[in-house]
Amino acid sequence: MNHRIEPSPGVLYIVGTPIGNLGDLSKRAGMLIKEVSVIACEDTRHSGPFIRRLGSKANLLSFHRHNTQTRIPTLLALLGEGKSLALISDAGLPGICDPGEALICAAKEAGHEVICIPGPCAATTALVTSGLPTNRFCFEGFLPIKGKERKQRLMELQTEQRTSIIYEAPHRLLKLLKELLAICGEQRALHVCRELTKIHEEHIGPTIGAAIEHFKENKPLGEFTIVLGGAVKQKISLSNPDQLINKMQSFIKEGASSNEAARKIAQETGHSKRFLYELLHKNKAKEKK
Ligand code: SAM
Repeated sequence: MNHRIEPSPGVLYIVGTPIGNLGDLSKRAGMLIKEVSVIACEDTRHSGPFIRRLGSKANLLSFHRHNTQTRIPTLLALLGEGKSLALISDAGLPGICDPGEALICAAKEAGHEVICIPGPCAATTALVTSGLPTNRFCFEGFLPIKGKERKQRLMELQTEQRTSIIYEAPHRLLKLLKELLAICGEQRALHVCRELTKIHEEHIGPTIGAAIEHFKENKPLGEFTIVLGGAVKQKISLSNPDQLINKMQSFIKEGASSNEAARKIAQETGHSKRFLYELLHKNKAKEKK
């Protein structure tokens, strides 16, 4: 098989690095890191020793969430001068839950070629080991930490039929599991991956209830990726208004507006949103009498 010569001048390489096990670094990724002229990394102190061990003499530039916008013009100028540039994150595939996305977008807009040297990613590693359906899935990343936005995203997971992948910090894991319990029930399929590819790799499930029991006894330590099974589609009888009203009222109790509740049930049943909204309001008027 013929390959092009790498690294090429003026190309941005997105280089996947291990998420724990250094043996997972590909030969191509190691060669790129060794040969490229500049490397943008989230934390030069964290990645520096790893980069130097590979024999790289590249210039290292920090690129993290606090200097994203100021650093991008410098990196684009280097590409413009014909330097080869590698982007690496603290671990895994750059561009997934880190500032890489902004640089990749800016480089493409400026007309530079962007090539990915694929490597480990916690999300896909967790998904395939979970045993949950992989034919359709969605990536949630980190949920908003609090407030209305978090509530909204959790509500969406209640009815999401695809497998969902969530990143969470260890000190917030139990809180997230309890929130999932409240909206999805203890029997919903869930697989927690701890310390993937590392010496203490562990898999906990197979339901929300079981994971909570486990983490009440075992303090969450290390890195976690959560894989939530999809909701089982509930068919609501078209001829039963009481069921429709009950279902909408349960959404409202969880914080949805009448409008949102009508929209969700419209999606699930195929009824028009207007019909459902009227049903809800007629019922409210009846209850007031
Ligand atoms: N770019 C990375 C990737 O490709 O997976 C993700 C970066 S994100 C800032 C870091 C989060 O990924 C962690 O908080 C954790 O949720 C998840 N993660 C990273 N390494 C992991 C591991 N070894 N096991 C489980 N989850 C991991």
